[in-house]
Amino acid sequence: MSAPLIELAAVSRCYPNGDSEVRALDEVSLRIAQGEFIALLGPSGCGKSTLMNVLGCLDRPSSGVYRVNGQDVSALDADTLASLRRDTFGFVFQRYNLIATASATDNVALPAIYAGLPLAARQARARALLAKLGLAERAGHRPGQLSGGQQQRVSIARALMNDAPVVLADEPTGALDTRSGQEVLALLKQLHGEGRTIILITHDLDIARHAERIVRLRDGRVESDSGPVARAPAPLPARPPSGQPSLRAELGESLSMAFTALRANVFRTVLTLLGVIIGVAAVVAMMAIGDGGKRDVLARISAMGTNLLLVRPGAPGVRPSGELASLTLADAAALEKVSGVEAVSPERGGSVTLRVGNLDYRTQIKGVWANYPQVRDWPVAEGMFFSKADVDGYAPVIVLGSTVADSLFPDGRSPLGRYVLVKNVPFEVVGVLSSKGATPFGSDQDDIVLIPLTTGFMRVFGKQYASSVTVRVKDVSQIDAAESAVRELLLARHQTEDFQVRNTASILETASETQNTLTVLLGSVAAISLLVGGIGVMNIMLVSVTERTREIGVRMATGARMRDILLQFNIEAIVVCGAGGALGIVLGVLSAWLAASAGVSVAFSPWPALLAFSCAFVTGCVFGYLPARKAAGMDPVQALAAE
Ligand code: ADP
Ligand code: MG
Repeated sequence: MSAPLIELAAVSRCYPNGDSEVRALDEVSLRIAQGEFIALLGPSGCGKSTLMNVLGCLDRPSSGVYRVNGQDVSALDADTLASLRRDTFGFVFQRYNLIATASATDNVALPAIYAGLPLAARQARARALLAKLGLAERAGHRPGQLSGGQQQRVSIARALMNDAPVVLADEPTGALDTRSGQEVLALLKQLHGEGRTIILITHDLDIARHAERIVRLRDGRVESDSGPVARAPAPLPARPPSGQPSLRAELGESLSMAFTALRANVFRTVLTLLGVIIGVAAVVAMMAIGDGGKRDVLARISAMGTNLLLVRPGAPGVRPSGELASLTLADAAALEKVSGVEAVSPERGGSVTLRVGNLDYRTQIKGVWANYPQVRDWPVAEGMFFSKADVDGYAPVIVLGSTVADSLFPDGRSPLGRYVLVKNVPFEVVGVLSSKGATPFGSDQDDIVLIPLTTGFMRVFGKQYASSVTVRVKDVSQIDAAESAVRELLLARHQTEDFQVRNTASILETASETQNTLTVLLGSVAAISLLVGGIGVMNIMLVSVTERTREIGVRMATGARMRDILLQFNIEAIVVCGAGGALGIVLGVLSAWLAASAGVSVAFSPWPALLAFSCAFVTGCVFGYLPARKAAGMDPVQALAAE
């Protein structure tokens, strides 16, 4: 005789119970041949369900040997066990254990997913099975829309989906009324007639009588066994092909399952999405605004000219002050002859109240040389700048910044040729400067007037030395050489280092660093919100795993391997984070664009968006992995027992 289909040899299953242990199964030995219809009968608590879990490979015995088709299952790893379950057993549970969010068809089709059957074939077979069990009309209903008897028939259809040769039914009629119970029993008989092995678990002798063989259990032991009925087993119906699904099919299935699960909980999904969206949007918008600010500052500083050296009085380390009398016009004249220097303008500034008629206007005044427009790259828009002859001749002429011109001459007529009182001395307006806009620090660069330095010394400032000298070098690549030449000359003239030289390139560098710090700061604040979004994802995934523990159990019982579960939950997290990331980028760009239209300067670059998206994605993978691993690591029995 060939090996029995199922063979238990002195199998025990103990549960720890405080210091002692409960022996739910106590050295049970049992052989079941293919094609039997056997009832396991016993009072509540005698170990029937424990036995069924062991038989169905949902649980492992504590001791003893369990063989399926002669194969010792204790030697099998988790994945092989999963395929053994999938190909050998169909489970019918007392409480149906259907997935509440899936239709009857999808519930029935579930085991075939893990057997690699393509969607269309799966659905067709599921519908055919439902039709066979009289549920053709109910194929699209969810479990909640079905009666108990109908739900149990759905679960029987599921047990038949992979054409399992063994049907394990644990109190299948326990939750049903008598009529539905009779229908279910009739169905089991019919399946037996088709050649399947039926193992029916019940506490009710009347139900057990439907079987050919009755095994009575008491306190975890076999009390009596009516023995197998000798007869030739019916041939098994042809099984649909079953195999491992390809990786692509697996991904596709996981993706569609993820979408189904997310749709089943729209509100929660939206809230989770929101966390990720806001995080990513914050990063994108903040970086755009930060970069915009930086670009602005740099543009304005470079507009000043990167080929300038600024000489100020005062020893290095001392705060430069215009009151130090170390920079003279003779110094400036000498600097003009240094090689590499294009032009030099000594300056002295202060504030002053201008008057035109009865209009008073307070502004900055600067005494400069005639080459100031060249040095500062700041041409006049109207009229002319004063000449060297004006400077040498102490001429009372003035050039107005555009803001001053607008304020002092609001009538719209040209200010050229008109007079402005500076400290009660009339100055003739000879020119108006082109507009330069605000400095990076917000002050208006056009709120200024320029007069010849000599006239300023005499009439306005009352001092005879410059508060700074601006040196324009010919070639910006030679700026370092020019800087040392300037230094050397001044050192030779002063015999001491009572001055400071800075070049605008270094100022630019400093400003750029400051702005970078600012951008990083903005970015980190945004990154934190992204992290918070990620934690939200983890939270939701944990809740989702806990909530769906039974579903995980059902999937495992129908053949899902650890990696199937892992993949499903990971993909759920990844879908949320991916979608959240993409929407976040859209929202971020949109809000930065709104800010831009409100006057804030923004600069878009793909990097922050890419970075934020990858962050969201990685967060999704990481934070989704932990709950997914928790789900996948669960014992099928424990998962099924969860409430
Ligand atoms: P039945 O299905 O026949 O009613 P069970 O197989 O469910 O009985 O339980 C058999 C015995 O094992 C009972 O005494 C029960 O309390 C105990 N038992 C079942 N499952 C567990 C478990 N997970 N932990 C501890 N004890 C358990
Ligand atoms: Mg039970």
